[in-house]
Amino acid sequence: MTEIFEGGCACGALRYKIPGDPVMQNHCQCRDCQQISGTGHGSYLTFARREQVALTGKATEWHTAGDSGNQKTRGFCPTCGSPVYLTFAAQPDLFVIHAASLDDPASFTPQISVYASRSHAWDPIAEDLPKFDRMPPG
Ligand SMILES: [Zn+2]
Ligand SMILES: [Zn+2]
Repeated sequence: MTEIFEGGCACGALRYKIPGDPVMQNHCQCRDCQQISGTGHGSYLTFARREQVALTGKATEWHTAGDSGNQKTRGFCPTCGSPVYLTFAAQPDLFVIHAASLDDPASFTPQISVYASRSHAWDPIAEDLPKFDRMPPG
């Protein structure tokens, strides 16, 4: 049976429903994720088949460039401001959601943490989680 991941923003205006398993679950301690989350890191689930994502409600999107120079698009709710999703121009099939936007945030199982080079002492990540200074190779 395929698991369905459901969630949305804090006010409920923006919702998603995604069947299938995430291909990656990670924390990111980069500066962008700190500013967007308002704390030390972002926590994400990445899904490989964007066409399976059912999104309802209207997101506001804005664009930024990653370290690689590739464009990232971030979607948030214009009413409550919650960050909800992230997509990449260079990998259009990927759809990334913020872990805390899940209706059941406990279903987030982080596998790695990236951009440890930008981390702060006040934001420790679980010791047993593999950490990368930037993005992991490949
Ligand atoms: Zn909202
Ligand atoms: Zn980041």
